[in-house]
Amino acid sequence: MPHPRLLPWLCPLLLSPALAFATPPAADQGTPVAVVAPAVDNDVIAPEAAPAGPVAVAAPVDGDRAAPVATPAGPIIPVANASHGDAAPRTTPAADSRSIADAGLGTSAAADHSGATDNAAPDSDAPASVGPLQLLGGTIAPGEFNTLHWHPPQSFTSIATPVPVLVARGAQPGPTLCLTAAIHGDELNGIEMVRRLMFELEPRELAGTVIGVPIVNLEGFRRGERYLTDRRDLNRHFPGTEDGSSAGRIAYSLFDQVIRHCDYLADLHTGSQRRINHAQIRGDLRHENIVAFARQFGGITVLHGKAASGTLRDAAVAAGIPAVTLEAGGPHRLEDDAVEAGVKALETLLDNLGVRKAKRLWRTPQPVFYESRWLRAPQGGILLSNVRLNQAVRAGEVLGTVTDPVSNTGSAIIAPFDGRLLGMAENQVVHTGFAAYHLGVEKRVEDVQEDARREEQQSPTPPSDDDGPSMSGSAPADVDTEAP
Ligand SMILES: [Zn+2]
Repeated sequence: MPHPRLLPWLCPLLLSPALAFATPPAADQGTPVAVVAPAVDNDVIAPEAAPAGPVAVAAPVDGDRAAPVATPAGPIIPVANASHGDAAPRTTPAADSRSIADAGLGTSAAADHSGATDNAAPDSDAPASVGPLQLLGGTIAPGEFNTLHWHPPQSFTSIATPVPVLVARGAQPGPTLCLTAAIHGDELNGIEMVRRLMFELEPRELAGTVIGVPIVNLEGFRRGERYLTDRRDLNRHFPGTEDGSSAGRIAYSLFDQVIRHCDYLADLHTGSQRRINHAQIRGDLRHENIVAFARQFGGITVLHGKAASGTLRDAAVAAGIPAVTLEAGGPHRLEDDAVEAGVKALETLLDNLGVRKAKRLWRTPQPVFYESRWLRAPQGGILLSNVRLNQAVRAGEVLGTVTDPVSNTGSAIIAPFDGRLLGMAENQVVHTGFAAYHLGVEKRVEDVQEDARREEQQSPTPPSDDDGPSMSGSAPADVDTEAP
């Protein structure tokens, strides 16, 4: 497994969670990255620092949103200060659950939102009264942005590292959207998606709340590895148990303290095991509310996928929270096109949920639904591809070859039907049965649903790994299975 070249500069930054997003990576400084909102909307210099409202009059400095500021000249100037709501006086003793209920944002309301077909503006007729959100021991007043910290029950208490949680609390009522990234610590694109999206939000103009956890598996991230320190896959232990294994407890803590506050969830991932995914939404399309939710992401690829037991997506749906995974790119790298595609989909989602004011002048592009199948290496050896990601291929086309480097015998992997490559492995050494190409066929969503339901009745399929195929043999299932 190659060590990611980009981690050396990322890791030191994360040693101080409060500074992690205060300092744009050096590699970005030379490029005109549109980090924040358009120029017309660039008063993002920590607006929460203004002494408005009950919070933050004289709170200690603790690294609140350190918004990179785009000046007209272009360079990004980090601003690493502003007050932190953690220490702010709590003038409103409302419980967080009540503030959510006050806004009419329970799960049932969420289901209503997800059923909205186009650009719903929730509660636009209701009086705009939003209470402060209390989360993770902190308070976020309406119209404010705050960085809170989740304390996973990991390592020794004395050296445990808090995980930053970014919260933008809208001034108007609306749903709570949660974004989780890097549950697999080597998946970097989602981290950058959360950063770009969260720091372009203007809480005073939002109707609803956006909660972003950029790096759920901070320990894995620091090591550049997918799994937790004990080599368990955190994304097989949700919703977790209070007194279970380490992974189960971490999962329980996140689910109980953060995820249960969400009306919607998008869990951000990339391909696994040196596989790359075209940007895509995956959800259990047998459920109408998941189809409705997936439609809110705009013109993106949508695949049916039954979630594996223990995934965050699976647990959230079981708890009544519409949830999908957003897959884009591959692990161990930052891919600008994949990140951009993900951010665009998430922005469209915010617009369609009515959380953000839509700026579009024309109808939102609609998602394209696919049925898909993984094609596996018929033998072990060196995999070399003839095709590229998202390429349209024809039945009979040779996608790649696998060659034994010693015997010089090889096999071709051939497309069994016309389709589009929604995911594929990078050139690498593979074992027999390695899932190499993810070939999709565009279909009407009704047909996708019908096929999914029929297949489930005929022969229940093993659920898919959220990043790759089911039963690929590449996931260390042995370490995923806990003794009772
Ligand atoms: Zn993943």
